[in-house]
Amino acid sequence: MASISVAAVFVCCLLAAFFSPALVQGEMARYDNYRVYKLNIESVDQLQLLQLIEQHSDGYTFLSDPVHLNTTVKLVVAPHKVAEFGEFNQRFSLKAEIAFENLQALIDRQLRGRRETFGWTAYHPLEDINAWLDTLIQQYPDVVSPIVAGETYEGRQIRGVKVSYKQGNSAVFMEGTIHSREWISAATVTWVLNELLTSEDVSVRNIAENYDWYVVPVANPDGYVYTHTTTRLWRKTRSRQNVLCYGVDPNRNWDYKFNQGGTSTIPCSDTFSGASPFSEIETRTLSEYIATIPNLSTYLDFHSSGQLLMIPYGHTQEPLDNYYELMEIGTKAAAKLQERHGSVYQVGNIAEIIYVASGSSLDWVKGTLQTPLTFAYELRDTGEYGFLLPPEQIIPTAEETLDSIIVILEEGKAMASFKPRKALSVPWTTPIFTMKLLLVCLACALFGATVAEKARYDNYRVYRIRVQTDRQLELLQAIEQYPDGYQFWSAPAKVGTEVLLVVPPHKRGHFSDIRAQYALRAELQTANLQEQIDLESRPSLRKETFGWTAYYNTDAIYAWLDSLVASYPSVVSPLNIGNSFEGRPIKGVKVSYKAGNKAVFMEGLIHAREWVSGATVTWVLNELLTSSDPKVRQIAENYDWYFFPVTNPDGYEYTHTTDRQWRKTRSQSSILCRGADPNRNWGYNFMQGGASSVPCSDTFAGASPFSEIETRQLSDFIATLDNLSTYLAFHSFSQLLLVPYGHTTARLDNYDETIAIGTKAINKLQQRYGTTYRIGNIAEAIYVASGGSVDWVKGVLRTPLVYAYELRDLGRFGFVLPPEQIIPTAEETLDSIIVILEEGANYGYH
Ligand SMILES: [Zn+2]
Repeated sequence: MASISVAAVFVCCLLAAFFSPALVQGEMARYDNYRVYKLNIESVDQLQLLQLIEQHSDGYTFLSDPVHLNTTVKLVVAPHKVAEFGEFNQRFSLKAEIAFENLQALIDRQLRGRRETFGWTAYHPLEDINAWLDTLIQQYPDVVSPIVAGETYEGRQIRGVKVSYKQGNSAVFMEGTIHSREWISAATVTWVLNELLTSEDVSVRNIAENYDWYVVPVANPDGYVYTHTTTRLWRKTRSRQNVLCYGVDPNRNWDYKFNQGGTSTIPCSDTFSGASPFSEIETRTLSEYIATIPNLSTYLDFHSSGQLLMIPYGHTQEPLDNYYELMEIGTKAAAKLQERHGSVYQVGNIAEIIYVASGSSLDWVKGTLQTPLTFAYELRDTGEYGFLLPPEQIIPTAEETLDSIIVILEEGKAMASFKPRKALSVPWTTPIFTMKLLLVCLACALFGATVAEKARYDNYRVYRIRVQTDRQLELLQAIEQYPDGYQFWSAPAKVGTEVLLVVPPHKRGHFSDIRAQYALRAELQTANLQEQIDLESRPSLRKETFGWTAYYNTDAIYAWLDSLVASYPSVVSPLNIGNSFEGRPIKGVKVSYKAGNKAVFMEGLIHAREWVSGATVTWVLNELLTSSDPKVRQIAENYDWYFFPVTNPDGYEYTHTTDRQWRKTRSQSSILCRGADPNRNWGYNFMQGGASSVPCSDTFAGASPFSEIETRQLSDFIATLDNLSTYLAFHSFSQLLLVPYGHTTARLDNYDETIAIGTKAINKLQQRYGTTYRIGNIAEAIYVASGGSVDWVKGVLRTPLVYAYELRDLGRFGFVLPPEQIIPTAEETLDSIIVILEEGANYGYH
């Protein structure tokens, strides 16, 4: 069962103030201990894997796209994905190196000094850039005039200045930061602008005064503001795209060879091209503005990173009309650029030098306006810091860039007079680049050195969200489809229910956006999930001997089962129904005091992370053997008991060694993702709702009924028990006693009796500690969920009494229930089991 919280649906509206979206706006995404890995793509398999990771986008962020073999990519790995990424490394021999241990530290370094006086030792927010433009306009009234090059979705102006010393000049357009996270672009453009006005260098004065300059430092203001206020790694515009995602890649949205490759049609993608060419007000208005510039001879667009000087086109490697001229000019410009600080640039057509990428501003300007000189820079560096280039590098970057701009303009002017069309051997080859990479590789630790890491959830928050409207439901279901690191503790299925959502630090910005947008009633349940996990497993709890003041792993549970067989040889017999996918035995025990009993089956931990399930099952087992309470003795000795505390041992072990939040089996369900939901995998009304066909989903039903070896063997074994009268499955959390079926709200044959017995059981359960349960058919009490074990047992074996427990709590701790609650949970549960059996006997079921 998915663990669904339906409790507190009647949360008092006095709490509404806490949910006010206004209080939570503008929160910043954080990347503490988010690692940046760097790796070279060496095989088609690796490329395919990385592209799948990029498409699925669940807690990974690529700083450069995986497009070609033999290129280097960098990707950010969220702390809860470190273990999974380690597995990919091994399986695909990725040889990923840690480039940075802590992305947030880099971001913080970039933010230093930004609100002091304007300059180029820091990166500045939009309002400071605009204020500086205003001072230029005041300071140089005869030379500098303001321009508004367009408008934005959020109502900002795309501001810039025109610098003109005299009439009759041809024009240069400089466009910065159309990709908002590429901060060095705006910084370089403003530095060059400042030089044009202040430098006394002869060649700078020459280009400054003999061209009209149209300078737009920030072509994507909404996105740029968002990188400062909310999410440092934001790339796109900020328009609403669908229920979940914002923004279009404004450099894939221009109306020239739109969507001719290298773009995505998925709104959540970082390279989403938009619904149509110029769907974005930014690109539409900016293009309109550029089209009005008289005598435009030169268009320069600035991006980062990669150290590339690129010429059109992005959709094809076919040389454009003045390809060879541009290559020659670009090559000379790159050579000049290198002279100052040694930075090596590659020069080439976009499609050949990086990858096919259509719909860029560069291509539109060239293809539509036929502007002669058109270059796009990918500024520093070659990937060490990428977008997060330290501010110390702003001035060197800008200096060398200006050197190259001077060459572009000088050479372009010289060439314009004779227009030669001669072949040019491609001047750049890769050895220097490769050598540099090799050196970096040697300096870094290989991934293999850090083995078997655990997923971590530091400062991951858990929110309780009340689903109040269809739109909110649609939103939450979209997140479930495209999680990017979000995790649901309970699936969003119905309006009027509650869900628990884990929000990783890098989604805080997004979460505050959607929270405000949809007026989500989200109550912070846990501020730091890792702290809760650490508390749950603190070493002081775990005793040498087995017990119920701590949670134990599979080996410890099995060793304890073995000890029972040894201690109670006439009563307890060992069972082993076969091995799991990873080769662990699925062990159980049979408890039988006499012949001729009806049988009770106790199923634990089919969902790996629901730890209290296994602990409850073993505690009840222990009571049956040791308690002297007459009621316990009565049920212990008058039934045959089949205990399987760990029916999903691979998953359970994984929650101990690697990822506390794991739910499924560990089979390989796709290239990218592991595991099927073993409680959606049973062969009765398989995939009849409430299960997913997506392998990465937490409720993936599996490729076919009983595709999982665990459920196949378990069902085979259960089918051999011909005296089975009662089947009890244990899950957590939500405090529910559920009866079949999950695929329909239609009532099973003995619905009334089952509910009557269950109601008495939960009333009894409540007596001990006041814990309140609700009872109902799965589909009506929670939501449709097909392929569960209890449905199969009921539907196929016709076992009379079948229940699934969702144990404590209601979501305060959820799966991470503190070990202090194990015994109380188990005690009250046993109280209810006694009632189920006694009452069942009264109805003649046993
Ligand atoms: Zn469960």
